[in-house]
Amino acid sequence: MKKILKISEGGQGPLDMVLTQLDIAAQKLKIDPDIHEKLKTPQRILIVSVPIRMDSGKVKVFTGYRVQHSMERGPCKGGIRYHPQVDLNEITALAMLMTWKCAVVNIPYGGAKGGVVCDPSQMSIYEIERLTRRYASEISIIIGPDKDIPAPDVNTNPQIMGWILDTYSMNLGHSVPSVVTGKPICLGGSKGRLEATARGVFFVTEQTCAYKGMSLSSSSVAIQGFGNVGSHSARIIHEHGGKVVAVSDVSGAIHNPEGIDIPKLLAHISQNKALKDFAGGRVISNKQLLECNCDILIPAALEGQITEENAPRIKAKIIVEAANAPTTPAGDKILNERGIFVVPDILANAGGVTVSYFEWVQSIQEYFWSEEEVNNKLRAIMTQAFTEVIALMEQYHVDMRLAAMMLGVGRVAEAGKYRGLWP
Ligand code: NAD
Repeated sequence: MKKILKISEGGQGPLDMVLTQLDIAAQKLKIDPDIHEKLKTPQRILIVSVPIRMDSGKVKVFTGYRVQHSMERGPCKGGIRYHPQVDLNEITALAMLMTWKCAVVNIPYGGAKGGVVCDPSQMSIYEIERLTRRYASEISIIIGPDKDIPAPDVNTNPQIMGWILDTYSMNLGHSVPSVVTGKPICLGGSKGRLEATARGVFFVTEQTCAYKGMSLSSSSVAIQGFGNVGSHSARIIHEHGGKVVAVSDVSGAIHNPEGIDIPKLLAHISQNKALKDFAGGRVISNKQLLECNCDILIPAALEGQITEENAPRIKAKIIVEAANAPTTPAGDKILNERGIFVVPDILANAGGVTVSYFEWVQSIQEYFWSEEEVNNKLRAIMTQAFTEVIALMEQYHVDMRLAAMMLGVGRVAEAGKYRGLWP
């Protein structure tokens, strides 16, 4: 398994990073070496070929993955990503992060992740639908409401979850809404799920400000990435009086020290798709966004954005990792040395999987909650997790990333101890 995954000791890739974090947490917690060894490799890796007919009439073959890291605490849970840079190492790293994340917020899942190597921006909606249905059929041998429940991630959305639900259900001959989360509300999705990751980001940002003696409403915020997580984070922070001074997407970045008019920007994006032509700010590069003057930086795009190269120039006092693995280990070390407070991904963006859990519970029971109930329960879980991570951080005198890892890994290891080794 290690050979397939190309693990390079001490490297800066997402998998090297996640494994290094696991080793440090396991050492600190003095975890049984046998359990530690087991947690280093995913339980299952499925690689699938996804042939589809393109609109041109030609057949193109894509590659897809589904990695299930751990089932110690329950069925696997994790998003599906469509991106040209998807690879097995990345998907495995993200599956592992999902395991720790579910444990940090104490929901009864293990971690998984899936992805297809493709560029959806170059595909028609019909091609994306055919790709989704074929990929869903291929991975249907290992997914299911009791086995592994996919959700949206980069470049996937409620419509794509709807197609996965339909494909899975058609093959079984009856409707199975609990096979995915993040689906449209009319198919049994949960109120509040679309913006849940961002709402969770907002809750932990608010709590971090309180912990650091700052106030969110008098802080300036820069957000990298303006998709599901980034755009909803900007809107919710703006609605609560925070000043969003810079935002970016793949097309470029804009900066306005007076505060960007987020409702206007959202209206612009819904018409024009790309952010860079918005008139309400000065155009800057994505690189400049990460280093701009702000109190709080929220990376909400892809992995590996904060590195040893740019970490010395980052001006934010707090970084809230809305994206998964946005900081490399070398970048993280510099941020720590500079006293920048980093709220790690496995806590900061856990709001998405938490409301996915609520959605799964509602789908199984076929009994639905109000948005207020969802948001209140989300706040309670995020607050509890934040408080527990801070307590470990203070008890062990470690940074918040290691404290969150210790909480997550410790819970998974405890479950592993009681389950024992089969056979
Ligand atoms: P998305 O596809 O909706 O949005 C991604 C955004 O990032 C887009 O605006 C894109 O233009 C932008 N982007 C891509 N490359 C960029 C670059 N180099 N510089 C600046 N912007 C860039 O994806 P999403 O669902 O919002 O996910 C964003 C991150 O949050 C990912 O790391 C994902 O794993 C993580 N996450 C998502 C969820 C969820 O519920 N969607 C939950 C937890 C974590």
